[in-house]
Amino acid sequence: MDSETRQHLQYLIERGHLEGIAAGITKQVLERGEMSLSSAQQAVFERQVKEQYFTPKCGVCGDDVPVAEYARWEDEKLCFNCSSRESKDD
Ligand SMILES: [Zn+2]
Repeated sequence: MDSETRQHLQYLIERGHLEGIAAGITKQVLERGEMSLSSAQQAVFERQVKEQYFTPKCGVCGDDVPVAEYARWEDEKLCFNCSSRESKDD
């Protein structure tokens, strides 16, 4: 797991995005790595964490947004390019 992924998982827990089993599994991944998950846990991690929180897309152009920009994306739902364009219009 790279440090960007790790940071993002920590961010999701801190912001309260993950609850119940998804939060528990994510904490386990942070402590012991993804390899420590059973296949059932792995399936939950894929569906409830990775698919939901690791593929942000711009609401205007549909481009993928890097997870490093997730906090900004959460407010604006825009990629960096569209975000700069919008703020210029103000
Ligand atoms: Zn965009």
